[in-house]
Amino acid sequence: MAILSHSIDLDFDRSHLWHPYTSVTNPLPVYPVSRAYDVFLELEDGRKLIDGMSSWWAAIHGYNHAVLNEAIVSQMQRMSHVMFGGLTHEPAVNLAKQLIALTPHSLEKVFLCDSGSVSVEVAIKMAIQYWAALGATSKNKLLTVRSGYHGDTFAAMSVCDPVTGMHSLFKGTIQEQFFAEAPACRFHEPCTEEDLADIRMMLERHHWEIAAVIIEPVVQGAGGMRFYAPHYLVMLRELCDSYDVLLIFDEIATGFGRTGRMFALEHAGIAPDIICLGKALTGGYMTLAATLTTDRVAETICSGNPGVFMHGPTFMANPLACAVASASISLLISYDWQTSVRRLETGLLTGLEPCRELSSVLDVRVLGAIGVVELYRPLDMAVVQKQFVDQGVWVRPFGRLVYLMPPFIMHDEELGILTAAVCNVVKTMR
Ligand SMILES: *Cc1c(COP(=O)(O)O)cnc(C)c1O
Repeated sequence: MAILSHSIDLDFDRSHLWHPYTSVTNPLPVYPVSRAYDVFLELEDGRKLIDGMSSWWAAIHGYNHAVLNEAIVSQMQRMSHVMFGGLTHEPAVNLAKQLIALTPHSLEKVFLCDSGSVSVEVAIKMAIQYWAALGATSKNKLLTVRSGYHGDTFAAMSVCDPVTGMHSLFKGTIQEQFFAEAPACRFHEPCTEEDLADIRMMLERHHWEIAAVIIEPVVQGAGGMRFYAPHYLVMLRELCDSYDVLLIFDEIATGFGRTGRMFALEHAGIAPDIICLGKALTGGYMTLAATLTTDRVAETICSGNPGVFMHGPTFMANPLACAVASASISLLISYDWQTSVRRLETGLLTGLEPCRELSSVLDVRVLGAIGVVELYRPLDMAVVQKQFVDQGVWVRPFGRLVYLMPPFIMHDEELGILTAAVCNVVKTMR
């Protein structure tokens, strides 16, 4: 196939393209990928890497999946996009039906938008418009916990961890919000009133100016890959209710099975007022996110002035993205994904366990199809990245964290190669 024989212009890439969180004048090397299928990324030189990242939580079914490809192709032959203002279409309606059926039954109203960060902006706007409609205009700030990550746009950044989120850099530009201590009770440990003392105090003092608490349920992702006790959320729900503050769950990373439940909130058995979904929503094919809320929140927003919700992106409910999201959800619920995730959990536990003994390792933890090796010291990304590629795997650590979140379809043998590669690389650290 002639089209594959073109080589990627790496010099041009190096001189002109920004990559995530990277210098454009002195960038780290990037690896040219020519195709991806199943759990493999194929580099231009023909090397095949086993993918340990699911392209940042997204590609749960692996790459180049026949069912997902077909969903996009057949939708494209009808229409790729039409504006959502004044028009609607089957892919959006079908996807909304699926999302309402899968999420807690109180979440009934769906806003489809471009990306995870935008869905967080939408959730924050919903919370502020809710209180404005009730005449509580002072309630326009957010309360969150440290070590969180909610995206890179300004309102989302304002609720990211203030240190790792580099708030000092944008001081004066980003809204100052309230931060409580991160949940300290670990996933399998009990959680007591004491663990919520800080957040309770913040609510007590500031509830009159707080629209909502925003938090990643059970798993704090990019802010530190921390897993905390579901019972924390049960108590937080009660606190939010008693202080009249809305609760927003950011399930962008955790949604669609990653933690062993369809949504991480199911570990706690409670529902938020607003939920953000993204990443695995389209099975990693396209950018799309959704913000769902309750009838109460939606109706209150629309009862106020101006009586409408103030958001409407150009590519809202893009039919291609909605079609592939629907297909991805149908695919997920068509098989016993819980058993796959449990199998990966076991493989991650046994495969990463040997790392625990290493002197460079602070902690090893696994939840669902997420495996984390936390080191004492940050590692040198350029060196480590090459070590992984040389071993035939794609793993992208950050800071002191080496972590795996493989596609659910990965076989035990491939997972064994991945976890062995992690242990081999971590062994070289000191
Ligand atoms: C990735 C992520 C976001 C941001 O989503 P984007 O699609 O990158 O904008 C927000 N919250 C959480 C928890 C995430 O993991």
